[in-house]
Amino acid sequence: MADNRTSDAAAAPRETDAARRCPACLSNDLEVFLEYEQVPVHGVLLMYSREAGRAHPRADLQLAVCSACGFVTNVRFEAGQHEYGPDYEESQHCSSTFSRFAADLAQRLVDDFDLRDRSIVEIGCGKGEFLAELCRLGNNRGVGIDPSCRPERIDAAAAARIEFRPEFYSAQHAGLAADMICCRHTLEHIQPVHEFLALVRGNIKPGTQPVVFCEVPSLEIIVREARFWDLYYEHCSYFDRASLATLFERTGFEVLDVWLDYDEQYLCLTARPSGQAADKYPVSRPRAKANPSMAAPMADFAARCQASITLWREVVAGWHAQQLRPVLWGAGSKCVAFLAATGLDEEIEYVVDISPYKQDRFLPGTGHRVVAPDFLREYRPRRVLAMNSVYRQEIQAQLDALGLEAELHAL
Ligand SMILES: [Zn+2]
Repeated sequence: MADNRTSDAAAAPRETDAARRCPACLSNDLEVFLEYEQVPVHGVLLMYSREAGRAHPRADLQLAVCSACGFVTNVRFEAGQHEYGPDYEESQHCSSTFSRFAADLAQRLVDDFDLRDRSIVEIGCGKGEFLAELCRLGNNRGVGIDPSCRPERIDAAAAARIEFRPEFYSAQHAGLAADMICCRHTLEHIQPVHEFLALVRGNIKPGTQPVVFCEVPSLEIIVREARFWDLYYEHCSYFDRASLATLFERTGFEVLDVWLDYDEQYLCLTARPSGQAADKYPVSRPRAKANPSMAAPMADFAARCQASITLWREVVAGWHAQQLRPVLWGAGSKCVAFLAATGLDEEIEYVVDISPYKQDRFLPGTGHRVVAPDFLREYRPRRVLAMNSVYRQEIQAQLDALGLEAELHAL
């Protein structure tokens, strides 16, 4: 179908792609440092059969870092690949560890910004649990914007205070009254981040000063610990503290605070509109310097990831060879990325998840069946590998309650 000339022509734009503009600071300093070919495009979309899981579309991950602002992006990302509908099951609220974190965070925001009898807009509200918590704690009103929202999952009292809009955030949301704009675990799914934040800034009702709260995965721990399972196609944008603060400052916000939370896995930021409109800062001079601690570790990041991939592949294959019936715990994006990178497949029979929405569904990519913890009573695994160490205690308590003596390990 394609002769040499067409292949050459197809290869040519890739050169340009690699050198293209940083979507965060708009400078021309992107440099590719890691490439994984053909990873599943979704990590948490529900699959209804093993075959559907295995046939799920794949695409390339080619990560580049901007030497001007420290932002990392997948230069091969194509936004059209994704399906953010009701079957997009990203909620982690079934976990008591996660719910406690979210409830404490909501309480802190309500107290710090006196969010009582106020209006809150959440961009990318997911299933709406966090917005419901903010509304409940402060008797606030909310607007939740997300194509995957499921209002029926929120208790009736909270839902009465929230207007859900099952759509993507856009210029149509200009002028929505807001004392707080919340955007959690959404920005990492968007590639034109400068354009997006400029839209948020431009949509703010003139004369109002809403506080903005943003939360994304932190690139810093990913790089420091070579967490290859935290790199996946859905996440096309990765931030450290400096690149996130720079982006907000350059799109017309004054940054109030930036901090790491959830065992340093999450990066949080609060900001307010500054006097400056978006795009007032000169492109060639980022406001904050890239975190100097990021540059050096990035150089050998791909090699450290590869070493970790080899190690985990050998460990799990060893468990399988010894007939220890290893299972993975946590059927989310980390699990899909872990399996894609290690190539582990029949060495693991089942993946466990506490979310009833995921049980008896199948993983995108390998097509592993997702089972409830109860299933382990009969399967009796001798090794359990948790996909996130933050849930270690919670998982151990469940294994104890099931009367299992499986050895628990965690990424
Ligand atoms: Zn940049």
